[in-house]
Amino acid sequence: MYAIAPLDFLINICSMDVFLHICCGPCALYPLEVFKERGIRVTGFFYNPNIHPYMEFERRVKALEEVVALNRVDIVWATPAYGLRKWLSLIGDKSSYETRCPICYEMRMDETAKEAKKRGFDLFSTTLLYSKYQRHELIRKICEAKARKYGIDFYYEDFRVGWKTGIEKAVDLGIYRQPYCGCIFSEQERYLKRLKRLESNMKEKEVQGSESHA
Ligand code: SF4
Repeated sequence: MYAIAPLDFLINICSMDVFLHICCGPCALYPLEVFKERGIRVTGFFYNPNIHPYMEFERRVKALEEVVALNRVDIVWATPAYGLRKWLSLIGDKSSYETRCPICYEMRMDETAKEAKKRGFDLFSTTLLYSKYQRHELIRKICEAKARKYGIDFYYEDFRVGWKTGIEKAVDLGIYRQPYCGCIFSEQERYLKRLKRLESNMKEKEVQGSESHA
């Protein structure tokens, strides 16, 4: 099921080229399906200095290579590819979830809009709009601001409606699905969340055990 867009809007965009920021292979599957269905031409753009450490970055690049080969999509790979130092220098001491993600989105959407304009595209968009785990409204606002800054249109769509479809497709195709968002902080947080869950489960069991012996 796709989100519904007004007919006149669809007629206009069908003759256009979209420069699509791609955060990773699995998140690209559903948006690429939507664009294909609508007859919209897409060029992907991989610019994600937020993905660490290096072997994980390489793994995601390989997964995306599989996705673009399957979908026959042209892609622009940003250079330098791996951007740990650049990303960290921008984040500085703002490493909490609340403060770092807006900077991370800003960085990637700014580069995407700028590159799209430079290359003569009509529109830009991002697969970040597919993920249920990203701050959707914030990403939308940042993209709208970048569109104004660079004088280019932003293609908005709530791709989250295809969340399940995209996952099923990735599983069917055997595409690598990453267990955390990307940065080294999110890599640590996934373990912390798991530890917290384990601790609270153990506490619950202890309480249940002491009640049954009372
Ligand atoms: S959690 Fe994701 S969006 Fe937020 S800073 Fe890390 S990589 Fe960027």
